[in-house]
This record gives sequence, C-alpha cells and structure tokens, in this order.
Amino acid sequence: MSFVNFQGVTKSFGKTLAVEELNLSIEQGEFFSLLGPSGCGKSTTLRMLAGFIAPSTGRIHVHGRDITDLPPESRDIGIVFQNYAIFPHMTVFDNIAFGLVERREDRTSIKRKVEAALEQVGLAGYGGRYERELSGGQKQRVALARVLVIEPEILLLDEPLSALDKKMREEMKFWIKNIQKSVGITTIYVTHDQSEALTMSDRIAVMDAGRVLQVGSPVEIYEEPNSRFIAEFIGESNLLMGRMDDGQVDIGGTSVPIPDPRGAASGDEVALLLRPEQIRLEPLSPEEPPKLTGRVADEVYQGSIRRYLVESRGQTVTVEVPNRPDLSQLPKGAEVSLFWHPDSSVVLR
Ligand code: ATP
Repeated sequence: MSFVNFQGVTKSFGKTLAVEELNLSIEQGEFFSLLGPSGCGKSTTLRMLAGFIAPSTGRIHVHGRDITDLPPESRDIGIVFQNYAIFPHMTVFDNIAFGLVERREDRTSIKRKVEAALEQVGLAGYGGRYERELSGGQKQRVALARVLVIEPEILLLDEPLSALDKKMREEMKFWIKNIQKSVGITTIYVTHDQSEALTMSDRIAVMDAGRVLQVGSPVEIYEEPNSRFIAEFIGESNLLMGRMDDGQVDIGGTSVPIPDPRGAASGDEVALLLRPEQIRLEPLSPEEPPKLTGRVADEVYQGSIRRYLVESRGQTVTVEVPNRPDLSQLPKGAEVSLFWHPDSSVVLR
C-alpha cells in the first residue's frame, strides 16, 4: 500500500458533490499536487486528509493506518494556508514555538528547534519580529517553519503562494521545492496554477468537477494529456479538429502524420494537440513540404516571443516564435508554412 491512500472517497455538501469516488495513492517523500479550476474539489480533498471534514463515503489510509475517523490533532499532519494564519500578537519566535509549547517540550529544546527552523527557512535573526513587520514572502516562510518544526509525517499546502506578487511567487516556488526535498517530507500541494504544479511536483493529479481526470509526472501531464480538458487547462494549446484517415489525421483535406492514434479508428472525429512552441513557422516555400500552410492573421509582440495567429484550413493556429534576429519576422497577411515533429502532436478523442 502507498503512503497515503484515498479509497473510493466521496464528499457531498447537501446536493453539491464536491469530490466523487476519489482513488489516489501518494508515495512517501513525494511532492504531489492537486491541480484544477476553482470549485473542482481540491481543498475538500485536502481538508478530508487533514481531518477538518469527514468523507461521506470511502476510507483514507496513511502509512497503513485507517485515519478516516481520527480527529485532526491525532493525524500527525501539518497544514499551511494561503492566508498564513500567523498570530499577530505573538513574535515570530513564539509563533513557531506554538506547537512545541502545546506539546509541553522543555524550553531548551524549544529554543534549539525554533532557531534551527528559522535558519532553515532563511529567517535567522527574525525571531523578535511581529507579523506586521514581515513581507508576504517572509510571513509564508514563518507559516512553513511553524509547521516543519513539529516534524509532521505529511505537509499540506493549500494555495500557499496565491497572496504573493508574481516575482515572489516565482522565488517561493523553487524555495518550497528545495526545502521539501531537503526535509524529505511527503507533501500535498493544492493549486489552480498550472505553472506552480509543473515546476514543483513529482506527480500531479488534475481534477475537474470533483473527479481526478489524470495522474502523472509534469512531463506526462503536459506532453501526454489524456483529454481535451487537460490539454487546454495545462499550458497553451492548439486543438486542430480533424478526422482519422488511414493512420493519419485529415485536417481540412491535408493528411498529417501522428505518433499514435491512441485508440482512434478511421473516420473518428479527433482533435490534434499541437503546442504553440512546437511549431516552426517559415515563409511559404516550395522546397520543403510543410505539414500545413496558412496565412498570418495577426502577430503580437510579447518580449521574449512573438505570437502569431495563423489561419489554416478554416482554423486558427497559434505559433510562438522566440524573439531572435535569426528567426524570420512575418507580416500580417504573409503566406506561411507550418512544420512540426509528429512526436510533438497528440491525438485526443
Ligand atoms: P478553490 O480553488 O476555489 O478553493 P476547490 O477546487 O478547492 O476550489 P472546493 O473548495 O473543494 O474546491 O469545493 C468543491 C465544491 O464543494 C464547490 O462547489 C464548493 O462550492 C463546494 N463546497 C466546499 N465546501 C463546502 C461547504 N462547507 N458547504 C457547501 N459546499 C461546499
């Protein structure tokens, strides 16, 4: 059995089915993310694991022990919330010491552990400050230190970065991931931000409407999504509508090769997933046969890339071109060729 197991877990609030028939296995030491749009059931899943709410049906096991009916304080699980939940009338030191004091640890051991935790989160010397004297990123470090100091078996992080500005979020993503790896603590991370999940996770469960749609590594989720929903939710995507024809996909009369029909049979309507960064855009030329041809409908300058919208076979294809002087810039209205490696496309039914 895996370290954390949800077995057939369902949670309804009145008529709302928040989580439906959830079966999930999380390994010890893993950084596991629950990713999905608002209202998909991520926080409910986390809260059931923490013990704040009880499943309507199903069981939850941790380390082989059925914890479904245990109160939160008997679960050995630490949780960090989006809003930090730091006590404003206590110093940073006392906030971090709180759980240890409750456990009646002796003063010397508390002092040693809190100082080690402050060091670990990069806040050595900040013990005497109050919440109002900390930046958002520092508050979140205190919140994390307060949990790590009690050495729980599992760390739960519920959208911990969403109150921070973009630059701080970027910094904290790598920082949290590094701390998690160095401590080796099994971590479950809730987010609706696909870039956070891709950057930090060992594995991701993508959820929608109370259900898990796919579980996989960031590479699997991004490169081999199992549904149109996931292809569109994770990263930028083109979904070109076509029809299976003799092992290829026919897009408006042009056959394009594919790596794998993934169960689609001749005549089936399919969507071909093509990521904008996987497409090469060139002026129309007779020399190299392209996969598709088209016309530039629009071009948007975005600093590091130029984004082209190309009309092809009645559909719009988005192409990202790195902003480099050796790559051609194409004006609106230009006739163009589109190239891509067949392995970078995915057939979705
Ligand atoms: P968000 O990212 O917005 O927090 P989420 O994916 O975490 O969303 P949940 O908070 O788990 O989603 O909510 C799932 C569904 O359950 C939603 O439809 C929500 O309205 C409903 N829900 C959650 N908690 C309760 C509650 N205590 N009472 C009634 N309905 C609830």
